Amino acid sequence: MPQRPARPRVLVVGGTAEARDLAARLVALGLDVTSSLAGRVSRPRLPAGRVRVGGFGGVDGLRAALRDEGWTHVVDATHPFAATMTAHALAAAGAEGVPLLRLARPGWSDHPDAGSWTWVDGHDAARDAATGLGERPALTTGRQTLPHYRGPWADRAVLVRLVEPDPEPLPTAWTVVLDRGPYDVAGETGLLRRHRADVLLTKDSGGAYTAAKLDACRALGVPVVVVRRPAVPDGVATVDDVDGAVRWVTGGA
Ligand code: NAP
Repeated sequence: MPQRPARPRVLVVGGTAEARDLAARLVALGLDVTSSLAGRVSRPRLPAGRVRVGGFGGVDGLRAALRDEGWTHVVDATHPFAATMTAHALAAAGAEGVPLLRLARPGWSDHPDAGSWTWVDGHDAARDAATGLGERPALTTGRQTLPHYRGPWADRAVLVRLVEPDPEPLPTAWTVVLDRGPYDVAGETGLLRRHRADVLLTKDSGGAYTAAKLDACRALGVPVVVVRRPAVPDGVATVDDVDGAVRWVTGGA
């Protein structure tokens, strides 16, 4: 087995604003940082430090990369809904004996309006719940979730917001908005109002970056359907902000 270097070599498994913030903070401290991106977005916002793009090839591929690169710390800062990558990072780091931290922003369950939203497990349930709440849904659950909505809602006036165009054709009744945030309440209110959206669907992504839509819904009286997060694996050291992750990597320095 290769010697682990004395200077921390950090792998940030990324694809989130928090992961970019963390990489910038660690690079500024002089650490050797590599951020990993899945490669889903054609022109991603690139983090500071080294960047690698594309899947590792499952748990075995990540295990091999951990050995080859000599990463001493892994911070899984992927999106709360990137459950496969989280599971792979945990399994690979555990098998290679590399310390792993999960950085996951808090969800929106503490939002003042959370009690008035409809919380569901999964996108089929979200679609069913929203069908009973409105006629003109605003869909903000992401490109990968579209198979749950495309067919059943082909005739609905759906407003869908995506970071990138979907390669599959979308129903002609749908209105597509391409944007990647961050968003503000005035912009979100205007968007929902122009579309005459009467129900909003979101994942419990959490954080401030995309939360303005929730305040816009309150202002407009638009009901919200929220898909709960996938379960977090047991026994993982977890922090919910970048400061905590910096402390973990630097040993509190
Ligand atoms: P996922 O379903 O959990 O992962 C599927 C596979 O994609 C993984 O097994 C891995 O392939 C590869 N992968 C995912 N994230 C990676 C990363 N950061 N670096 C290298 N490979 C990665 O992931 P997902 O939900 O499609 O999310 C993909 C990326 O988009 C993540 O980086 C995530 O942080 C970001 N993102 C996701 C969402 C969301 O709602 N899911 C929202 C915003 C941003 P291998 O098995 O080949 O290693």
